[in-house]
Amino acid sequence: MNYLAPFLAVAIGYVIARLFQKKGIRQMPIILAFSGSFLLSVTLFHLLPEVFTIPSKEIGLYIMSGILLQIILDFFSKGAEHGHVHLHSDTGSFPWLLFISLSIHALLEGFPLANNQSMLIGVIIHKIPIAIILALFFNKANYHKVTIIIFLLLFGLMTPLGSLLSTELELLREYETPINAVAIGVFLHVSTTILFESSKDHKFNLAKLLSIILGVVVAYFV
Ligand SMILES: [Zn+2]
Ligand SMILES: [Zn+2]
Repeated sequence: MNYLAPFLAVAIGYVIARLFQKKGIRQMPIILAFSGSFLLSVTLFHLLPEVFTIPSKEIGLYIMSGILLQIILDFFSKGAEHGHVHLHSDTGSFPWLLFISLSIHALLEGFPLANNQSMLIGVIIHKIPIAIILALFFNKANYHKVTIIIFLLLFGLMTPLGSLLSTELELLREYETPINAVAIGVFLHVSTTILFESSKDHKFNLAKLLSIILGVVVAYFV
């Protein structure tokens, strides 16, 4: 289940994007705000306490490197991990930079899921809207359908691959805590960016606020 679910999340995102590709999805900012608040909350409630069983400055350093890593990945993905895609796609060729940076991100996401059911749900909720946005963008940019499917298929496999590596490789299991701390940094960067960018105009939006609060409450109990 831990392997299949993150892959299915991408597949579900693709199907939703196909269904709504003409009309678009007007509620996307609200869905994104919920997913961001949910991901941030499960990270704070269910993953952060695990790496800090012993207070340590070193763990903080690993978390910080996760944030820095995501900042660097952002230069290449232009924000696709948190909900918007900008690509100069006049060539229509395979978007390698976007693919590689998204894959590194998704691979890392897989590590803490192997033994953490709450994080698994958090990442699924985070992946569905991201997959929708990617698929909608590719469709609009007139990518070939096969290219889109190959991209999303490989992208969808990265998180299960991360989980698999973390359980199967003895060496990685030894470094479970530092790797999870790096993943925390990645989650913190992505989820807070989603939240900040979902209120770009700083206008009060009750629906958005409620969806953020709902994300916190649900994450507390999963
Ligand atoms: Zn952005
Ligand atoms: Zn992600």
